Amino acid sequence: MKKRTIPIYNLDVWFTNDEADCRAFLKRHGAEENLTDNAKGVWITFKGRDDHGYWVLAVYDGDIGTVVHESVHAAWGVLDTCSVKTDVDNDEARAFLAAWFTKMVLKLFPAEPRGPRLVEGAEK
Ligand SMILES: [Zn+2]
Repeated sequence: MKKRTIPIYNLDVWFTNDEADCRAFLKRHGAEENLTDNAKGVWITFKGRDDHGYWVLAVYDGDIGTVVHESVHAAWGVLDTCSVKTDVDNDEARAFLAAWFTKMVLKLFPAEPRGPRLVEGAEK
């Protein structure tokens, strides 16, 4: 698990690309019931038994689609947590966050074989 702080919102988020690592983290904080089986990744917010709030983004399959999928969930989650209202005519904050999460996952887990396989399935 790697912790990074979102700029502007000053919120700590834990990242991982390892499902066992994620399960152990949630178990340690008394929140493992939040995980489902056979997920490609997950965005989770929960209150731990230490009474702190936790934000976790995990991508297990290294697929860029999963990275974007979980990043969009995360952008919604952060804005909800911070009570920031956006709509279709005012969505730069949401777009900024989705990009920040996407870039952070690519930065933290860039290497094969576990990192995002950006060129897999590329048109020849
Ligand atoms: Zn989803």
